[in-house]
Amino acid sequence: MIYLDNNATTRTAPSVVAAMNPYWSEAYYNPTSLAAQFEGIRKPLDLATERLATLLNASSDEFTLTSGATESNNWVLQSIAAERLRTTGTCHILISAIEHPSIIETAEELQTRDPRIMIEHVPVHSSGVIDLEALRQSIRPDTALVSIMLANNETGVIQPIREASLIVKQATPACLFHTDATQAVGKVIVDLQYLDKIDLLSLSAHKFHGPKGIGSLFIRHGTHFESWMHGGGQQSGRRAGTENPALAAGFAKAIELLGTKEEIATRAERICAMRNRLELELGRIHPCAIVLGRDVPRLANTSLLVFPRFDGEMLVHRLLGDGIVVSTGAACSNGSDRPSHVLLSMGIDYTIARDALRVSLSEFTTDEEISSVLNSLERVH
Ligand code: PMP
Repeated sequence: MIYLDNNATTRTAPSVVAAMNPYWSEAYYNPTSLAAQFEGIRKPLDLATERLATLLNASSDEFTLTSGATESNNWVLQSIAAERLRTTGTCHILISAIEHPSIIETAEELQTRDPRIMIEHVPVHSSGVIDLEALRQSIRPDTALVSIMLANNETGVIQPIREASLIVKQATPACLFHTDATQAVGKVIVDLQYLDKIDLLSLSAHKFHGPKGIGSLFIRHGTHFESWMHGGGQQSGRRAGTENPALAAGFAKAIELLGTKEEIATRAERICAMRNRLELELGRIHPCAIVLGRDVPRLANTSLLVFPRFDGEMLVHRLLGDGIVVSTGAACSNGSDRPSHVLLSMGIDYTIARDALRVSLSEFTTDEEISSVLNSLERVH
């Protein structure tokens, strides 16, 4: 199989699997037990947050381990809404129109549950970049939270979150700023000292060759923020529940594999060259093909293509028949034939929005694989 659906999930790196193995088999003690301390079973838990701190230029105690970005995103929205309702009796939240369903659906659910919660969407330009002027105009003195993702999972478009966070803090200093950085971490440099107005950040290990089922929420020092899970007091009482050293060991290994900032940048350049070749040669084979988000900052690994003459799902099946795995838009919401909310919010026509093909590369992608995709698409008429 040629796997080009890396924005959905990535291959778990073999050394990540190896790092996890001992914690599934012999080192299985509960990490909070006394015996575990002698056996070093807490080590991977500390290692994961320490490596996150180094990767993102923050402190290890600013990271709480979660089951992934869906949980981190739920935590942010649900906790802030609950706290605001309790203290002020109302809650205004701004999210971008292109957020992942774990933000959008959670926000909708909150609004349905309690009419005192008001959610507004910040629109994007046709390029897929959020409209900063609209953000400026939507922010209110009582806005509790603004949530804007760092990079979009469908288009790969990188959002100007530093500028957005400055706008928000200037207008309403008490408003918290959250970014879902799930698609960005490991692909671009994320520096939380540079992004110093970001209070909260979500991420997930399985997007950069780590295991599924573990991620983190960054909570900046000094941020007033409610605990999520109550129970045995694990993770400083913020998110109780027996920690999983095996997943943490895999998470820590995956972060180690990312290497230095320079290595992340070099890897991105190599992936970008393959992605650009795909788009360039595709333009010759199918001149009608449109590359979305081409003219704005974009993740190096992502190509969102629209073939106006072909049905997106048919293309995915054709490629699958040739052993090539890609997806139609957002893999997370596959199974429904609703067009992507991301593309619709970019003003793309309803029928075209249903026909997008997302090709997402990884460091394991090769030039030969790109040639195979091109060969396969050349045979589609
Ligand atoms: N946010 C974004 C931008 C994503 O791409 C994803 C995964 N598709 C998630 C959140 C959810 O992450 P997880 O699978 O870790 O729950």
